[in-house]
This record gives sequence, structure tokens and C-alpha cells, in this order.
Amino acid sequence: MKLPKIRDDLSMLDGYHSPQVDVKIRLNTNESPIAPPDRWVEDLSAELKNISWNRYPDREANQLHTDIAKFHNVGPDMVLAANGSNEVLQSLLLTYGGFGRKAAVFEPTYALHSHISALTGTELIVGECNENFAIENETIEGVLEQHPSVLFLCSPNNPTGITATRDFIESIVERCAEIGILLIIDEAYGEFSDWSAIDLVREGSKIAVTKTFSKTWSMAGIRLGYMVAAQEIIESVRTVILPYHLDSLKQVAGSYALRHISEMNSRVELLVQERERVSRKLLELPIQQWPSGANFILFRPTNSAKITGSELWEALLERSILVRNCSSWSRLEGCLRVTIGTPEENDSFLEHLEAILE
Ligand SMILES: *Cc1c(COP(=O)(O)O)cnc(C)c1O
Repeated sequence: MKLPKIRDDLSMLDGYHSPQVDVKIRLNTNESPIAPPDRWVEDLSAELKNISWNRYPDREANQLHTDIAKFHNVGPDMVLAANGSNEVLQSLLLTYGGFGRKAAVFEPTYALHSHISALTGTELIVGECNENFAIENETIEGVLEQHPSVLFLCSPNNPTGITATRDFIESIVERCAEIGILLIIDEAYGEFSDWSAIDLVREGSKIAVTKTFSKTWSMAGIRLGYMVAAQEIIESVRTVILPYHLDSLKQVAGSYALRHISEMNSRVELLVQERERVSRKLLELPIQQWPSGANFILFRPTNSAKITGSELWEALLERSILVRNCSSWSRLEGCLRVTIGTPEENDSFLEHLEAILE
């Protein structure tokens, strides 16, 4: 008995790896350390009785789209939600990428951008950031010359934490629109930084800004993300979305979350304060770090610490603290990425880190 071989272009691919091990302090996947508001859980529980479980969900997710649109002050026809922003990215690539087309990324960045390009058969163009993880004009022009259909930017960038300036993004938006390239700006961490490219989305613009409920909204467990883009882009992407892809419960979960905006804002504030506190403490240790506009910090032990990134990762894990080990990723030699947790978790991380480095 036989199965057909899988697609040749897939057999070369590595899956997505982030170890899910059982530890006391989990600071490895940039989740929110705080559970969603009790009120949200209560409202959602009550809603279980009202959902018509024998019926398919609202295919257009009208209420959810309206609520998200209101939150961002755009028209409801400029929003499209999906099962995590990863599904939004995949749908964008199915629409504008695919076999015979190219997508461009600037490394180091979120691994899923190149992974999803590969899954959708889209050829990848890689531009390299400079040693400060900035994208130089020359690099951009080099990438554009290779005629991508889609260009990915991630701001704040995962895993570096670096936020692109408005001037920089505006100049790329303009360049891409001139040539006819769709610019995807992944703003999974946008709320933790000081500005959002959603301000640049208007009717006719050639950008898609993707957002997620996974990080800021403490809802990684529900898998909900969305994009804000011109109506023309939203309509095109609807072509590849499977019918009824967003279940009824998820649609309500998203709408109910948007009733707790001030609570979300205060959580973001707390995490930003904590990020700055952790960063100040790292300054006192033999650690190199990068300025972060997100809910995590990329860092590595300096030579004087006399420990490699991997050894440091292991030592933290032995103390039941899990951070992301990026040390073997290209251009990130020796680097680890720590998610900002609760004040207690951060204290514990810092204490153990200091003890290990002593
Ligand atoms: C976490 C993350 C996402 C979120 O993906 P979801 O599918 O919405 O959970 C998207 N982009 C980046 C850069 C991320 O780090």
C-alpha cells in the first residue's frame, strides 16, 4: 500500500519549532502573562447557551468586523478577521503570492513569513538587515529589483523588538505603491510601541496591516487575528478564505474582548513599564540587548560573561525558566529572547539570570 509523495517543495521544509515544555516560568512565546478579564470569560460562558450550535456561523462575521473597524476607526469593509494573524498572512500569500511569484523578507524577522511563503509555493527573496538590525536603502532597492509581488515588514520586529520609524515605513509604502507591490506590515506587537501603520491605511492604499488578539489581548488560546487594508485588498483575499472559517464562539470572543479596551490598555502599560525595568536591569549585567517596542527583549551574553547563549538558555531551563533560544538562528548568534511576564516572573528571571552570570 502506498501514499503519493508529498509536494517536492514541501519535503525540504522544516516545520515551526518552539518547544512546549512544562516549566514554572514560561517566557518563550510572547504570550500575555495575564489571563483575560473575568468579565470576558463570564460573558463568553453565558453566550454558550445562545449560540445556534447546529447552524454554521455568520460567514461574513459582520458583528466582529464592525467592532474591530470601530476600534480602529476605519470602515467595516476594511477589516478581515481569520484564525490567528498567521491565517491572515497565509491568505494574503495565497492571493498575491503562489507559484511563479515572489515574496520578500528582511532577515532576521518572524520565521513564519518565509515559512508561509514556502507553504504557498511563493519564491522567497531575502534582504539582510545591517549589524544593527536596520534595513538599508540599498538593500531595499536590491530586493525591489527582483520583482516581488509581496513585501513583508514586521514592526515592532520579532525577534529583534525594533520598531520601524514612521518616515521609514512611509517611504516604503510609497515605493511599493509606485512599483505595484503589496506591502504587508505585521503589527502583532503594535500596541506595545508608540505608533501604528494603521494610520496609513486608506481607500486605495496598497498595504495590509496585520494584527492579532494573541498577544495584547491575552487570547492566544482562541486563535484570532485580522488585517486592516483597503477594501479592494479585503475583497480579493476573501476569494481564498474557506467558507465559515471563523467559528461562532470565536466571533463573539473577539467582539466581547473589544468591550475591555481600557483594561487592555492598562495591561499594555504595565508590560511596557516592566519591559523598561527589565531592560534597565540587563544594563547592569554582562548582556548586550536591543531596544524593544514589543513585549519581549532580544539579548545575548557578552564575551566577558564567559557563557554561550545556548549554555545560558540551558541554565535558565534548569531553573524552570523557559526563554526562546535564538542562538542558532542565522545572524542571531548567541541570542535569547525573553517575553516580558508578570512583575514576579520578571523578578525571578532577573534573579536567576544574575546568579547564573555571577
Ligand atoms: C505572535 C506573532 C504573530 C501572531 O500570530 P497569531 O497567528 O495571530 O497568533 C504574528 N506575527 C508575529 C510577528 C508574531 O510574533
